[in-house]
Amino acid sequence: MSTCLPSRILEQAQGRPARHVVSVSGGKDSTATYLLALEQTGGDFDAVFADTGNEHEATYEYVARLHERTGGPKVQTVKADFLRELARKRAWLESGKATSRAMNPWTEERVQEVLAAGLEPSGVPFLDLCVSRGMFPCRSRAFCSRYLKRFALWYQFQSPLTDKELHIVSWQGIRAEESARRSCYPMWELSPDSELLTIYRPLMGWSVEDVAAMHRRHGIKLNPLYGMGFSRVGCMPCIQSNKQDIRLIARLFPEHIAKIRKWERIVRISSRSGQATFFHQDTAGSNVPVGIDEVVRWSMTRRGGKQFDMLACAAPPTSEVCIYAGGLCE
Ligand code: SF4
Repeated sequence: MSTCLPSRILEQAQGRPARHVVSVSGGKDSTATYLLALEQTGGDFDAVFADTGNEHEATYEYVARLHERTGGPKVQTVKADFLRELARKRAWLESGKATSRAMNPWTEERVQEVLAAGLEPSGVPFLDLCVSRGMFPCRSRAFCSRYLKRFALWYQFQSPLTDKELHIVSWQGIRAEESARRSCYPMWELSPDSELLTIYRPLMGWSVEDVAAMHRRHGIKLNPLYGMGFSRVGCMPCIQSNKQDIRLIARLFPEHIAKIRKWERIVRISSRSGQATFFHQDTAGSNVPVGIDEVVRWSMTRRGGKQFDMLACAAPPTSEVCIYAGGLCE
């Protein structure tokens, strides 16, 4: 399998041997991709996880033990850091350029408040990225995945492999049926980051039943978060979490809501406007940005947030609950 690259890719590889690198997130599609790579390469591949610092403990455990459960390679971890970006922001604020710029100048008061807060790195990539930018990402500016995942993977893992004269084939678990946007991705793509990296999306034609079948074939259970009712596994929460997932997080893992409450306070202090909310205002259908507690309150409602949903206050779903038709959870 390691040589079954289309001729265009082999030309691009310029005679370099291909090295397969599977991106693992702890979700069902990336796990199916890992299992497919295991079947097709006999285990001759690397697997890597980009830790955003905003994952659920179950996901960390699932990723860390995937090799024990499958016999495949151990998943390695990369983690972005923003030391330089935070130092650069501090230097920029101290230089006076923030208050003198023509567009959206900072007030001297805000500059002093941000400098007093210190802009010290927390070591949590997601938080440090947001503090360095003075804002949270949103759907239209989802810089989180670019800086926390794509760049971390490239600079910390893939680029060093290209230095060893290898051509990287980066396997990504994306399926066309997930969304209209994802259906436009090609199965093979030359990376914008390097001509020595080719993106491969082998699951583009797969259905969710195919993903379930792959798990079954290897006797691998899904990340337990699916069994609790979550529709996606990724950041906890993700900036794109839907109403049900936000409600579930609040019900099952209030400590992750408390984390976001704390992060909103910290990012607010680091911003030009003194305003910052984790979720975009559209999330809760509000005209103005609202903080995490208001978004959680909305998640417990029905009918556009006007009617309190009694069912949302019922007992949390158990691990027997399966959100997927077709038996994805066994
Ligand atoms: S899972 Fe969501 S919040 Fe996390 S990096 Fe991806 S888009 Fe951003």
